[in-house]
Amino acid sequence: MRYYIHTFGCQMNVADSQRLASELERMGHHAATEADDADILVVNTCVVRQSAEDKAYNRLNMMNALKKENPDKVIGVMGCLVGVRDPLKLRKRLPYVDVFMPPSEPGPMVAFLRDRMSESEILALEAEARQQRDALQDGDLILPTHEQHNLITAHVPVVYGCSHACTFCIIPFRRGIERSRSVGEIVAHVRSLALQGVKEVTLLGQIVDRYGKDIPDGPDLADLLRIVHDVAEESGLERIRFLTSHPNWMTDKLLDTVAELPRVMPHIEVPVQAGDDEVLARMKRGYTADDYRKLIHRIRERIPHVAINTDIIVGFPGESDAQFMATYNLLAELKLDKAHLARYSPRPQTVSERTMADDVPDEEKRRRHQMLEDLQAQVVAEINQRYLGETVPVLVEEKHKGKWRGRTPQNKLVFFESEDNWHGKVVDLEITWTGPWSMQGRLPTAQHEDEPLIVITG
Ligand code: SF4
Repeated sequence: MRYYIHTFGCQMNVADSQRLASELERMGHHAATEADDADILVVNTCVVRQSAEDKAYNRLNMMNALKKENPDKVIGVMGCLVGVRDPLKLRKRLPYVDVFMPPSEPGPMVAFLRDRMSESEILALEAEARQQRDALQDGDLILPTHEQHNLITAHVPVVYGCSHACTFCIIPFRRGIERSRSVGEIVAHVRSLALQGVKEVTLLGQIVDRYGKDIPDGPDLADLLRIVHDVAEESGLERIRFLTSHPNWMTDKLLDTVAELPRVMPHIEVPVQAGDDEVLARMKRGYTADDYRKLIHRIRERIPHVAINTDIIVGFPGESDAQFMATYNLLAELKLDKAHLARYSPRPQTVSERTMADDVPDEEKRRRHQMLEDLQAQVVAEINQRYLGETVPVLVEEKHKGKWRGRTPQNKLVFFESEDNWHGKVVDLEITWTGPWSMQGRLPTAQHEDEPLIVITG
């Protein structure tokens, strides 16, 4: 059978879809590039905002239309729309769906497909599949054929769920409390990706810095980075990243480990969400704007050339103009490399949805969002200008509209032209143009004896 997975949402969902694809590949099923050509159709859903949830239902309706034409098709829904609890209401709303999979749980689909096949069919398919994947072990993650030795970057979940309780966030209700994966599982995952040509992995968690907190005497994230770094050195993996951090859990040990290990990139994702202490308190984030300011200084002191990205929610219930300006001024002061901006969207079950009125008009939310976007465009343009004329190592991911595209250690996007095949290679590029969202580079022209080569690394 052929499968097609449509993924909405975050990197964790991308990794979950990859895990599901791997289980289907292990059973001997193969990826279809179009939903029309697939026998197994899956939507991996996101509900972090109402608009994301609406898109998931639309996509499911489209798949139902395909099933009406061919009732043998199998439809599955996965992710945060399903959540960790029994989706009774969802089953009523989606009667045409065959399989419901909680986030990060491909098991129900595997069981459903096995129930539809005879034992001999299962064994034959699995034997054929095993032959096709020579070096990979049973527990390894198997990439679909079209991604093997083509995919350059991949995500590796290290801790699932979240035990924090930010008042606006639906994730703990849909992904459950935090659960760290074992070191052995993570090492096997990373090694199998490297075996299939992946050059960069990003370790994932809602609060990735809390890795190991639920493992008695367990390793923390700094220890895990050291272990994964050893795997990288032996398996040819070039780069390691991790996200998403939380201001309260970033230790000096972690920061010093990032600075010390050459394959761990100087790139930190640590959301602030707002710049006003009263708003932060009602969000139950657990820190103040000044705590965040001090953290940014600590990160910059300990990790040379570091890029710091953040998340901001505008229009949280009760956010006054002055409180919004506190966020604006904090961003203007800290000059961060990227701010992922979102307008507040009340989510079911959350404390803010149940106890706070969504009283900032949508128009005002859009005005505040635009103000921060304009500010960040200016800030990042200034930051990126510093790279002009410098030479930076870029890991090349793919060709896009005739140009090679890749990222610096600071996760900045760089494009360049070359006839040679740079796919999956790290190339030193001279930066010739910079803008707020990307940069243009060129292969260094012949070296002039009297000009030292300046390379911006970690
Ligand atoms: S830390 Fe807060 S915002 Fe992040 S996943 Fe957990 S509850 Fe949600």
